[in-house]
Amino acid sequence: KNIIELDQVGMVYETGSGSVEALRDIRLTVREGEFISLVGPSGCGKSTLLRVTAGLRPMTSGSVVVDGVSVTKPIQKVGMVFQSAVLLKWRSILDNVLLPAELAGLNPRKYRDRARELLELVGLGDFTRKSPNELSGGMQQRAALCRALLLDPPLLLMDEPFGALDAMTRDDMNLELLRVWGETGGQEGRKTILFVTHSIPEAVFLADRVVVMSPRPGRIAEIVDVGLPRP
Ligand code: ADP
Ligand code: ADP
Repeated sequence: KNIIELDQVGMVYETGSGSVEALRDIRLTVREGEFISLVGPSGCGKSTLLRVTAGLRPMTSGSVVVDGVSVTKPIQKVGMVFQSAVLLKWRSILDNVLLPAELAGLNPRKYRDRARELLELVGLGDFTRKSPNELSGGMQQRAALCRALLLDPPLLLMDEPFGALDAMTRDDMNLELLRVWGETGGQEGRKTILFVTHSIPEAVFLADRVVVMSPRPGRIAEIVDVGLPRP
């Protein structure tokens, strides 16, 4: 089953000083459960592609379909993880992870067990009551991953999630991500991941397919099948 269908997607930002064409003629079909890495130089439109897929920015042309539905506004089927965890400092780790339930108008109490389970899965079981300030960068990103997974979205969009971490922590996080990905599949099977990175080795290590983008305007230069056996 296809979960993402991007057809001839174009996207232009309008700014005070003119327009910037960020994406042109993007065609990409992603099957449910695939792990896709997006690579390419800074400014080639990787972040924009994630935003358009999540419905956070409207495309200017073409069509974006997620799970059979045309995307015209921010969708709830996605979890997002950014380079910075952006945890709320005045809330405990647990309450940060519960945020998506609150924002969706659900009763956060009903998600407490799920949140604790996720935090345990990433080794933060003893840190649920801590403040984000008391956690290292890697631990904060683990908490951000739990937050993104709270409502069990079929689609996970990750924008250089480990880009700010040191190399060792980053390698750990990559292994961790593959493990968590394997263990949080849900009934429908594995989650689908779009993962933006500057690192080609990281892209190849993680993904089933690597989408290579070129800039000005952002286009898909090639799509490489990796298909390595997983650890
Ligand atoms: P990448 O994630 O690959 O670095 P981006 O998607 O951030 O690329 O940016 C693609 C292009 O769109 C760049 O030329 C960038 O300057 C431009 N751009 C990104 N965000 C905005 C914005 N909010 N307003 C105007 N231009 C933007
Ligand atoms: P990245 O390359 O990691 O995607 P950028 O440094 O390109 O990040 O962009 C950081 C922020 O600035 C983003 O929110 C993006 O939307 C915005 N931005 C990028 N380029 C422009 C631009 N030309 N005009 C206005 N905002 C921009």
